Amino acid sequence: MIFGILAALASFPALPSAHAQGSADGFGQWLAAFRAEAIASGIRAETVDHALKGVTYDPSVIALDNKQPEFVRSFAAYFASAVTEDRVAQGRAMIERHQPLFEKIFASKGVASYYLTAFWALESNFGANTGDYSVIRSLATLAYDPRRSDLFRAQLLDALRLVDRGIVPLEKLRGSWAGAMGQTQFMPSDYLARTIDFDGDGKRDMWNSIPDILGSSAHYLQSLGWKKGQLWGQQVRLPKTFQWQLAEPSAPLPLSTWRKMGVQAMDGKPLPPGDQPASIVLPMGHRGPAFLLYDNFQVILKWNRSLHYALAVGLLADRLAGRPGLIGSLGAEASPLKVSEVEEIQQRLTALGFDTGDHDGRVGPATRTAIRNYQLQTGLPADGYADRQLLRRLRGQ
Ligand code: CA
Repeated sequence: MIFGILAALASFPALPSAHAQGSADGFGQWLAAFRAEAIASGIRAETVDHALKGVTYDPSVIALDNKQPEFVRSFAAYFASAVTEDRVAQGRAMIERHQPLFEKIFASKGVASYYLTAFWALESNFGANTGDYSVIRSLATLAYDPRRSDLFRAQLLDALRLVDRGIVPLEKLRGSWAGAMGQTQFMPSDYLARTIDFDGDGKRDMWNSIPDILGSSAHYLQSLGWKKGQLWGQQVRLPKTFQWQLAEPSAPLPLSTWRKMGVQAMDGKPLPPGDQPASIVLPMGHRGPAFLLYDNFQVILKWNRSLHYALAVGLLADRLAGRPGLIGSLGAEASPLKVSEVEEIQQRLTALGFDTGDHDGRVGPATRTAIRNYQLQTGLPADGYADRQLLRRLRGQ
């Protein structure tokens, strides 16, 4: 779930700092000041000294944090790697193997097996890949780095609290380069506040106890507002007259409004009853698939802010539940946009008076809105989708 945090903060301006980014000079001094802060916050000096002993700056963590992909990964490419037939088969086997546990979790937390299994698959490939970085070292490095110091200092303090309170032994604190731990990759603050001892052995073990791992993940989703028995969303067929500019995942409308417009389930069945808020996303523009999204989709986005990730969780869960999953082919992709080309789209739109907010190479709600407004003004289908055709048009080619 760390990627949600990183994505949320990636565009934050650097905080003023005495040291330059990427420089290890002064790390020892910083660590000494942090030690004092940790002890002042109530963590025992013995724990702090034991945990911070010999900790050094890890340049590989900063290199990973700075690593910018050259190309924007399309939904088609992400989906192909995230929802594989192997994963579906393995996920179904996991659900069968742990069926009594899943039933117990569903009864007390209201989250179904197939959703928990989809998160489990995407976070660590069912525990195969939980990360082997020292969480203390990674977080100390990221907290020392000036860009998101406050966020990671708070996580580092909570990592120390996990040790101080006897929840996780120091030697077990290993995880992703960004400090996410265990089979469903909890950051220290969430580990501290949101994990539960579901097998009743007195420990909260997110590495080895399947009941703790799945029970805690369900507990966390429940605390984020998961609605028992509700779909995450569904693939839909849009009417020919559909106003593309209404497809914005962050702008829900009452379900009755979509029904009146003629939005239909792919299988021709009526949309669910009721008038819950629902939004539409077109992850590949108006030529690609359309999805109607319900409240549980917004909960998945609180776990990880990536739309592609959240769609993959939903579609993998559907497959695990015996539903069809994605209907139709996503097609071959022409050529993915470079991140620098998305930045160019943002710069050109802003210059034309369509404010995209940041020029960060990421297509978020503000950029989608700017694209839609430009498309509306120039008579194009206003799907808010950034592709090469849009870039060419903006360049006047
Ligand atoms: Ca336990």
